[in-house]
Amino acid sequence: MRQALSVASECVPLIKTGGLADVVGALPAALKPEGWSLRTLLPGYPAVMRVAGQGKKVWSTVDLFGGPAQLQHVRVVGLDLLILDAPHLYDRDGSIYLGPNGQDYQDNPERFAALAWVAAQLATNGLGNWLPEVLHLHDWQAALAPWYLKELGGAAGTLLTIHNVAFHGIAPAARLNALRLPPDGFTSEGFEYWGQINMLKGGIVSADKISTVSPTYARELTTPEFGMGLDGALASRQADLTGILNGIDIETWNPTSDAAISTHFRTPRGKAKAKAKLEAEFDLPAADGPLCIVVSRLTTQKGLDLLLNALPALVDRGGRIALLGSGDRDLENAWLRASDAHPFVSARIGYDEGLSHRMFAGADAVLVPSRFEPCGLTQLYGLRYGAVPLVALTGGLADTVIAANAAAIAEGVATGLQFHPVTSDALAHSLLRLCDLFADKDVWTRLQRNAMKHPVGWDTSARAYARIYEGLGTSS
Ligand code: ADP
Repeated sequence: MRQALSVASECVPLIKTGGLADVVGALPAALKPEGWSLRTLLPGYPAVMRVAGQGKKVWSTVDLFGGPAQLQHVRVVGLDLLILDAPHLYDRDGSIYLGPNGQDYQDNPERFAALAWVAAQLATNGLGNWLPEVLHLHDWQAALAPWYLKELGGAAGTLLTIHNVAFHGIAPAARLNALRLPPDGFTSEGFEYWGQINMLKGGIVSADKISTVSPTYARELTTPEFGMGLDGALASRQADLTGILNGIDIETWNPTSDAAISTHFRTPRGKAKAKAKLEAEFDLPAADGPLCIVVSRLTTQKGLDLLLNALPALVDRGGRIALLGSGDRDLENAWLRASDAHPFVSARIGYDEGLSHRMFAGADAVLVPSRFEPCGLTQLYGLRYGAVPLVALTGGLADTVIAANAAAIAEGVATGLQFHPVTSDALAHSLLRLCDLFADKDVWTRLQRNAMKHPVGWDTSARAYARIYEGLGTSS
């Protein structure tokens, strides 16, 4: 087996705030059949230390960005983990990125630059007879590793995967030394960005290859509309930039055996019991229209303010909606108010993995009206569970759903609905169309069947990653 090191700030099932964690947790198993053995380097937050327990100490230092640190090697929950135990950086209560005041920790740049530095150190000196050929870096938290690798003289190839370009990792220029960055990299061709240090940009300009999580998002990233200020840097790396779709864990997300649901099913008809349970769980009355769900962070990105405006189109036709999410206070409150105001709307504020499984099992449709969406996972769960996805035509949502236009229906290939532009009006039209399609039971069942057959696992994408690794590997 060839060796690679995956470096990230989150990993399922140890610590998760978003889809990044799902992907990082899934990659090792996905790449194994391709001949690559992946170790995963993670920060030792309390939640990670609790699950991983005490591993074998394999490395230590007296000063890692301001305090002592050691690496614990542990194999647990099917993962081969290196955990960076650095209490001065990671031993904090609460969120992994935010302090008790809800603001980013002031030293987030140091906290994650340290992670990237240790990754580069490992790829240079190895551990015993283990030396990774490839460093797979995820998002800004790992993005500076190629700079450290160059300083340390390591030979590993580097792949930076961008899961969400909205998060940059910004530090004042005065922190150059503290971040162990070379002053000559502080230029517009380097990690400098409007007079500050931009860690994601640092990775974009220096990694050997760059990927993001869907082909459409890879194109979008090079445009001002979606590039979040890094479109120029990304456009200049276009030849090295690819889009590889995320997959989902089709064992955990399997409607015939899902441990989190009590009524399993193989066909759309088999969903009836789960649907009745879901109506009861969300206190929604039975009605003629589709039972729709949303499982999401509640942020502007996800377009759930647009959905609030478009709700009449759905509920006036007997459609119902069950929402599970948390995030921006204003949006949480707006959904709770909608929930109070209409018997066909029911919102739960919180994060609940088990409930999310029951929702996909019972739903007729899942709604994903994102303004931008690098890949998106909930439309993939929807496909797998016959909850027809209605999605915005953007990013990975554009790449994973075959829209039910007349031709696709006639060909028998449609799996969901797409709307564009991403506005309340276009969404409302799409919801009306959803209700029309739902009313035609033959067409609807066909949509569900196609959805459930659509491949959503990792096979194709794992091969694509392995091809990139092979191009980067030191023994290539
Ligand atoms: P993002 O990473 O932008 O949040 P994704 O769709 O890529 O969006 O991934 C979100 C992941 O988090 C999915 O696995 C989704 O099911 C899960 N998720 C989001 N909100 C909740 C919630 N409130 N309860 C349970 N799972 C959630």
